[in-house]
Amino acid sequence: MSCDVLVVVEHNEGRLKNVSIELLSYFGRLGKDNGVKVVAFVFGDQISEKLYCDIGKLGILQIVSYVDNDLDMQPGLIAGMTVGLAKKIKPKLIVMANTVRSRDSAPLIAQDLDIEMYSDIIDIDYKKTVINLTRLIYGGKAIEKIKLLNQQALITIRPNVLGNHENEAFIPKITRLKINELPINQTYITKAKITKEKAQKPINEAEVIIAIGRGLRRVDDLNMVNDLARVVDGVIGSTRPVVDMGFVRRSHQIGQSGRSVSPRLAILLGISGQIQFVAGISKAKTIIAINKDAKATIFKSADYGIVGDIYAIIPILTRELRKLKLQNR
Ligand SMILES: Cc1cc2nc3c(=O)[nH]c(=O)nc-3n(C[C@H](O)[C@H](O)[C@H](O)COP(=O)(O)OP(=O)(O)OC[C@H]3O[C@@H](n4cnc5c(N)ncnc54)[C@H](O)[C@@H]3O)c2cc1C
Repeated sequence: MSCDVLVVVEHNEGRLKNVSIELLSYFGRLGKDNGVKVVAFVFGDQISEKLYCDIGKLGILQIVSYVDNDLDMQPGLIAGMTVGLAKKIKPKLIVMANTVRSRDSAPLIAQDLDIEMYSDIIDIDYKKTVINLTRLIYGGKAIEKIKLLNQQALITIRPNVLGNHENEAFIPKITRLKINELPINQTYITKAKITKEKAQKPINEAEVIIAIGRGLRRVDDLNMVNDLARVVDGVIGSTRPVVDMGFVRRSHQIGQSGRSVSPRLAILLGISGQIQFVAGISKAKTIIAINKDAKATIFKSADYGIVGDIYAIIPILTRELRKLKLQNR
């Protein structure tokens, strides 16, 4: 087996992550329209026939799977398996999601294979002879354009940038690997699994973000923000001062010294709009800002702005959105 593109799939207990749906449907489309040979690599536990079917529905013909319920998905292990497979099937491009898990293993893979690596890609134009990539650098202040010609490379693509593509469904051919076919390091055997209930999505994978700034006065006022987040199925993000005050964990900070995010919708509450914050949110598709100061800089970056007190507006917004949600059920 050989291929042009190897997509490393991420799933949660057998359900494809949204970002993997985006990657598979994008490359599935290329497979059909441009004859690009795509292989999806899926590994871990709780992999069912349904997962293979879901991958086939995205236009993918070839799946390589490694199922083992005792494996702990450490970066070194993911890297070892992916390197082992890549050495066999020699893809020109290895594609991973720009998620916490893949970002940890991607550099190890690139180093082991001695290939180029580009992380946090926000746009890709794949042609047989050249692959054009775009990514934001220097905290979002500059755009880097990369051309891949014949060199082998690994890229990580940001969630929510490729969209979902409707493709013809295939019944995929599945190659099931056995333990002796991959360089599995046995020190990574899981002893026990502790699952966090209702763990929040990492902020850079969120489709909806409710971000708070210093306009939020007390930590208890987060209850009001959490109510809004629940109604819109959103993840809480924040500016750096809010993290420094200990209201929100650092992993939820947006900006130059935090995360760069690309949600479909960001609702920004009591945030002034300093460049260091805006650098991390500029790829959001739609931004709604609420600030009591009509001259706040954040309104320059927003698609919609509401001038007013977040303490008056958030409860109204939550109530009205909840009503809409119930009506649309
Ligand atoms: C090297 C460096 C890196 C940095 N990295 C980051 C980063 O990654 N992320 C980040 O966020 N910052 C970062 N900063 C800090 C950044 O410069 C700003 O200080 C910060 O973004 C401001 O946060 P804020 O908007 O919450 O607070 P403020 O600037 O204090 O703004 C609060 C806003 O809330 C509004 N407001 C107040 N009360 C209400 C109310 N009741 N209703 C409605 N609106 C209200 C005010 O009008 C104001 O506009 C960095 C700074 C430096 C120097």
